[in-house]
Amino acid sequence: MNCLFCKIVEGSIPSTAVYSDETCYAFADIQPKAPAHVLIVPRRHIASIAEAAPSDESLLGHLMLVAAQIARDKGLGNGYRVVTNIGSDGGQSVDHLHLHLLGGRALSWPPG
Ligand code: AMP
Ligand code: ZN
Repeated sequence: MNCLFCKIVEGSIPSTAVYSDETCYAFADIQPKAPAHVLIVPRRHIASIAEAAPSDESLLGHLMLVAAQIARDKGLGNGYRVVTNIGSDGGQSVDHLHLHLLGGRALSWPPG
C-alpha cells in the first residue's frame, strides 16, 4: 500500500520520533502549526476514525492517552489541543489515521 504514514511507521521514510510502543508511533509534524506539533498514528493502517471498527476501541483510547502523556512530557501544562481530521471537508491530507497534538501557544477557536 502506498501510504506515507505506513512508510514512516516502518522506517522507510525518515521521521523525528517522539514516542513509540507496540501499537503506535508518534513523530514531529514536518510543517509544525504550533511550537509543539506531534502526530500520533497507529502502526496498523486505518484510514481514519470513519473507518475504525468496534474492535479498535481500545486502540483509539490508547492513542488519546499517549497524546496526553506526550503533552505532559513536553510540559504543555497551559493546555493543548488533540484533533483528528477526517475526509476532504475535515481537511485530511494523509489517509492514515493520526491525532495531531498541538500546543505551546494559545490556539484560536473555532478552527477554520
Ligand atoms: P492532515 O492534513 O490532518 O491529514 O495531517 C497530515 C499532516 O502530516 C500535516 O500536518 C503534514 O504537515 C504532516 N506531514 C506530511 N508529510 C509528513 C512527513 N513526511 N513527516 C511528518 N509529517 C508530515
Ligand atoms: Zn497507512
